[in-house]
Parts: sequence; C-alpha cells; structure tokens
Amino acid sequence: MPHVVVIGAGIAGLTAAYRAVNAGHHVTVLEAASTAGGAIAPATFKLPEGPLTVDAGAEAYASRSTQMTQLLYELGLANQTVTPNPDGSWLYLPQTGAVPAPKLGMWGIPGDPTAAEVVQALGTQAAGRAAADLTTPMTTWAQRRAQGQPITVGELVADRFGPVALERLVAPVVAGVHSADPHELDIDKIAPGLLDKAIQRDSVARAVTDMRAAAPPGAAVKTLPGGMHRLIEALLDALSDRAEIRFETRVTALDPATRTVTTQTGQRLSANQVILAVDAPSAYDLLSSSTQLTQRPTYGTGVAIVLLIVDAPGLDVHPRGTGMLVSPAVTDVRAKAATHVTAKWQWAAQAATSLAKHRHIIRLSYGRITDPTDGSAPGHDTADADLLAMAATDASAIFGLEHQELNAGLIASKIIRWRRAMPLITPENTSRIRAVQEAARATNWIQVTGAWFAGTGLAAISQHVTGLPLNPLQ
Ligand SMILES: Cc1cc2nc3c(=O)[nH]c(=O)nc-3n(C[C@H](O)[C@H](O)[C@H](O)COP(=O)(O)OP(=O)(O)OC[C@H]3O[C@@H](n4cnc5c(N)ncnc54)[C@H](O)[C@@H]3O)c2cc1C
Repeated sequence: MPHVVVIGAGIAGLTAAYRAVNAGHHVTVLEAASTAGGAIAPATFKLPEGPLTVDAGAEAYASRSTQMTQLLYELGLANQTVTPNPDGSWLYLPQTGAVPAPKLGMWGIPGDPTAAEVVQALGTQAAGRAAADLTTPMTTWAQRRAQGQPITVGELVADRFGPVALERLVAPVVAGVHSADPHELDIDKIAPGLLDKAIQRDSVARAVTDMRAAAPPGAAVKTLPGGMHRLIEALLDALSDRAEIRFETRVTALDPATRTVTTQTGQRLSANQVILAVDAPSAYDLLSSSTQLTQRPTYGTGVAIVLLIVDAPGLDVHPRGTGMLVSPAVTDVRAKAATHVTAKWQWAAQAATSLAKHRHIIRLSYGRITDPTDGSAPGHDTADADLLAMAATDASAIFGLEHQELNAGLIASKIIRWRRAMPLITPENTSRIRAVQEAARATNWIQVTGAWFAGTGLAAISQHVTGLPLNPLQ
C-alpha cells in the first residue's frame, strides 16, 4: 500500500489524512505538539462549580463551505451544527464610541449605505459619499477585472464608498477577523463572487444585498455545540484505527531524492507522498536545503486571546449583541475585537449558566497586522499582567459596564497566544509563499496545504485539501 506521510495535525493535516485513508492509502501523521488541532483548540477552566470548556482558537466555520458541510456529514456531525444568535455585532468607533454594525453588510461593506445605522456610524456627509456607490458605474472595476488585475478590499471600498466608510465600517472587521490590512487583502479571498456580482449589478452595495439575501443574519457561520474543537475529536476518532498519528514528533528534514522524512529524534520514514500541512516559514525550512528557495516567508506579529469568565448581571441583556469590532483608529480601547461568547452561542450560555446564574464568557483579541513592530501596541508579546489589566478595562468600556462590576465579577481568565497559525498576507510574503508551494510541487513528492497556502479559515482549508492531488509515487 502506498505510504502517505502527513506533517502537521491541524485541521489541514487531519482532513488530508482522512482523505488519504479514504483513498485506501497507508497514512502516518507526524505532529510536533502533544495534541492535535493546531489553531482549533479547547481551553478548559476548572471552576469551583465545575469545568467550563470554550474554543481558544477558531470558534466557527463559514457555512457556505460545501466541503465543510460534506466533512461534517461524513463524520456524523451535520445535524448537530448550530448558528449564532442573529443579533449581530457592534462597532467601536473614534468619537462615536459603540454603535450597532450595519445589519445588512458583508465584512462591514454596507448593503444599504442609506440605512440609519450606517448614517449613525459614518455621519451624514460620509454616508452621502458612501451612497455614491448606488449611482456610480462600475466601469473601471469591470475593466480591471477583465485584465485580471488583483483588486484589494481597501481600494474597492475606498473608491466606491469613500475613505471614511473604509476606515469606520470595513477596517475594524477586516483587522479583527482576518488580522489583515484591507489594502493588502484580495477581495476574492474574503468575499468570493462579490466583485463579479457588483460588476453585474453596477453597485457593490446591491451585490452585498443580493448575497446576503441568500444567507440570512446569523447563518453565515456555524459551529458545533461545545465548540469547534469537537471537529478535531471527530476526525481523530475517524482516523483512530486507520492511520497512525505520532505526537511530539517534529519533522526536521525532507529528502525528495531518497523520499525520506526525518524527525527530530533521527527517525527516518519512507514515504510515497508527503503532505506538508504546516505554516509556510516551517515549510520553507524543510524545503530549502533540497530546492532553489532563498526567501523565507515571515511570521506576522501574532495575536493574544484573553478569555474572561465573569459573573455580571449587566451582561445578561447582551448589551453589545454578539460582540464588538474595534476601529484601528480608536485609542481608548486597546483590544481589536471582543466576542460575548455566551451571547453569541446558546450552547455556551447553557454551559455557563448551569454553573452560575449570571455567568458569562468574554473573549478579547489583541494584535493587528498593522501594528508597529516596536512592540508599542498590545498583542502577542505583551506580558500576562499587562494584558489582563487591559482586558478588564477594555471589557468594561466595550460592554458599557462599570469597571468595578466587571472586576468584582471576574472569576477566571486565560491568555492564549497565536503566531504561526495566522498567515501574514503582504505582497512580498505572498510571493514567497507561492515560491514555497511551487518548490514543493516541483519535487513531485511533496504537496503543501494549510492556512498559509489555502487562505485563513476552515472553509478555505477544506476546499484546498479537497483539491489536493493524492497520487503517491510507486
Ligand atoms: C485566534 C484564532 C481564531 C480563529 N477563528 C477562526 C474562526 O472562527 N473560523 C475559521 O474558519 N478560522 C478561524 N481561525 C483560523 C483557523 O483557525 C486556521 O486558519 C486553521 O485552524 C489553520 O489550520 P492549519 O491546519 O492550516 O494550521 P495549524 O492549525 O497551525 O496546524 C499546523 C500544525 O502543524 C504542526 N507543525 C508545524 N511544524 C511542524 C513540523 N516541523 N513537524 C510536525 N508538525 C509541525 C503544528 O504544531 C500544528 O499543529 C482562527 C485562528 C486563530 C488563531
């Protein structure tokens, strides 16, 4: 039986392994960490009333993904998926403070630039400029599309809706959710099909409205009750007697000439095919000695997630819907986003209130890709004590609670730091990542996958893994 070696047991590696065993191959998964899942990971609080487990990394998937839907179906989980509370999120803006995010929108791009909440967020003059999208022909964008030019979210939104709409409506979402600068994020990456529809409808707003009509509020993402990490448990179950998974096994070398994989303990495995499901800088390290690669992709500044367990009756009314995205121009709140986990997910509310009546879970994220590299902005490298102090202050400002109420009700906290799981999308890094992918393909033995090559998120990754050629050499 051909032997397929999968390196990395994140969602990319595990789904690739699952595909490979289904194709009848003999599969070994090698994972550097002591657990599987990578950026899909649980965080468990051991509280006096009992344990409380939430997601520490990814918490949902884009429900438009047919590949994710298919995978969940095959794993027997399709009928368990749940959607978030449809209340929607809020924005924290300079001068204005907390305002509801436009109800009809996509990545902050408004479907109705004349809606009351858009006018509230932008002010009358900038809202008037945003409405120009409805009457200005899409001619130049159609031409650029026809020429195959890449188009960023930033340039499209600034042109169609004006710079204020970009800064106040779209930048908080793109920075908060994608950890990206809108001027460096391709529109097709975050909203596949939107630009073509906008050209057809002669308006980006009308295209957003059409696409949202197909996906009602709250239906854009789904999760599993108990958390997204349950998907990893299900994949491990499905692989349990069909593949060998070795933990704490870092791969240190790949030799396409002899088709051998070497681990940090010096073990050597022969493989007919290698699926490299790790971050691009790590993939570069494994490929550079046997290929012509010279430019290592770089990591971004990373993010820190602060989870707070709070007993606060003031949060029972969900004062900020499912959470808040903070404009990068805001200076009085340092977090880039906050999720009110127990407002967003019914399962989380049940789990928390089964322990205490007014118990809530809040998740704050720190670290934007646009942060200066001198460490002056809070993020991945900020000390625990500083992050926790900041999180308590930010949470009370964001949720409109007295600082004292929040501090008095704070039961427990955890900090989780992520750097490697999030691809750094800059034009220079994108070309370095592409070079790694090409070099792997040229070996005719190694295929790369995972967030750095497929794009961030479970939907992009599962689509990429589905398209991966599985053709082990004999
Ligand atoms: C805080 C946070 C929140 C997110 N929220 C969402 C969300 O809600 N929805 C969504 O769709 N996406 C979300 N994402 C993105 C999503 O989690 C990632 O895109 C995805 O999980 C990445 O999976 P992966 O398998 O490509 O990489 P990873 O999960 O990073 O897995 C790679 C694995 O490879 C291993 N590895 C690396 N080098 C080696 C080596 N040399 N040898 C052996 N093993 C090695 C690592 O230990 C790791 O386990 C979020 C990400 C973060 C960080």
